[in-house]
Amino acid sequence: MTTSTTRQDTAPAIDQEYCDIHDAYYNPLKDEWLETACDDPTCPYCVGRPQRPSEVKKMDHLGGPDA
Ligand SMILES: [Zn+2]
Repeated sequence: MTTSTTRQDTAPAIDQEYCDIHDAYYNPLKDEWLETACDDPTCPYCVGRPQRPSEVKKMDHLGGPDA
């Protein structure tokens, strides 16, 4: 998808968030994934996905905006 800017700021009670690192939705309140990892052992999204979303390490492989 190459949509430039699409934002949805209409959900104050967040029980579902998206992890762009592992390309999966999770529940930050329960700290559990809402999606199971795929079967592809070479999938860059699922490889290294921790048991809990809170253990996801935010790798700035894209070069973060923070200088
Ligand atoms: Zn995958």
